[in-house]
Amino acid sequence: MKEAELVIIGGGPAGLCAAISAAESGAKVCIIERNKTLGGQLVKQTHMFFGSEKQYASTRGIDITRILLDKLNSYGENIEILTESTVVGMYEDGVITVLHKEDNYFKIKPKVVIVATGAFEKALAFPNNDLPGIYGAGAVQTLMNVYGIKPGDRVLMVGAGNIGLIVSYQLLQAGVEVAAILDAAPKIGGYLVHASKIRRMGVPILTSHTVKEAIGRDYLKKAVVCQVDEKFQPVEGTEKEFDVDVMCISVGLTPLNELLFMRGCKMKYVPQLSGFVPLRNENYETTIENVFAAGDATGVEEASSAMVEGYLAGLCAAAKIGCRPDNFDERRSDYVRQLNDLRSGPVGTHILAGIEQIVI
Ligand SMILES: Cc1cc2nc3c(=O)[nH]c(=O)nc-3n(C[C@H](O)[C@H](O)[C@H](O)COP(=O)(O)OP(=O)(O)OC[C@H]3O[C@@H](n4cnc5c(N)ncnc54)[C@H](O)[C@@H]3O)c2cc1C
Repeated sequence: MKEAELVIIGGGPAGLCAAISAAESGAKVCIIERNKTLGGQLVKQTHMFFGSEKQYASTRGIDITRILLDKLNSYGENIEILTESTVVGMYEDGVITVLHKEDNYFKIKPKVVIVATGAFEKALAFPNNDLPGIYGAGAVQTLMNVYGIKPGDRVLMVGAGNIGLIVSYQLLQAGVEVAAILDAAPKIGGYLVHASKIRRMGVPILTSHTVKEAIGRDYLKKAVVCQVDEKFQPVEGTEKEFDVDVMCISVGLTPLNELLFMRGCKMKYVPQLSGFVPLRNENYETTIENVFAAGDATGVEEASSAMVEGYLAGLCAAAKIGCRPDNFDERRSDYVRQLNDLRSGPVGTHILAGIEQIVI
């Protein structure tokens, strides 16, 4: 069995920042990432980020990954990176099981672990929702921005939050027609600056609308949509059809935290944080000693807050195993201040109401 000081599960922005912070404090860090490359969601984000300057606003997501990797590489001897390695189990005795590539299983026993596994896309229930051509927004972004593949010719986007709006714009840039964007809510959820840009390009945004069914045999040919009332129930007689070969579902993300459930961490369903999340103390340690959690796995937010949460979790997890820098209190207070600043708007107030429910 492999021994390790500090293991980080997930190499997205939260995991990378946790690694930087822990290595800077002098801990020996091992990052375990299931993909071939590090960066998590950032690797497909070719758009410039919004948010705060300290968290690289106006920089493209893919470039933020490069900046974080450069920082990480400067702690060379303290960092081990295992890619194409999926953590498949976390057990009571602290042992972690990892599957490397397809059939190489091995075990690691770290002194302390940070779970930064991110989130997964929510699906939508309607007849034929499993037809080829119906994708999550993240999958469409990956096809286009990572592999350079057009997902189809004509898309119906479902969800007018920031992700739905940004991916619609990227589809238009790639030469794909966007037939319409729908959202069941009566208002557009994303920033109006993104919505206006898309409307100017001739794409209608239909609020209070949902998908009634998908039509096709071997692949998607049509989407039937209808209006919903204030209780989100379909309004008979309002059906419209769109001839599309792609439907892109962008109705939010849910924290990906089966490993925390498996390890026995106390979990709570918190709607403001988009699903079940672990209870944790102010240092981001869960109810299981030496198991920390950060980023979207503890509540869906943004890369900016995931990065700062990662820095804070890395600092505190390293301190737990004796790597406590002299400026620990100063650094910790700075991260708390940055998180408070990021959560100062209306969305932040909603998130804070969720976080209040999980602090122990
Ligand atoms: C289209 C889109 C646009 C966005 N735009 C912005 C924006 O402009 N500004 C902004 O601040 N945020 C934006 N976000 C949100 C941002 O990308 C996420 O909030 C952020 O990536 C969360 O970071 P994370 O490290 O917690 O999770 P992730 O980035 O999801 O990283 C988690 C990592 O964990 C790995 N992993 C999961 N399970 C395992 C396992 N069992 N074993 C090993 N590895 C595992 C995954 O492969 C992944 O690499 C956007 C998101 C999307 C989808």
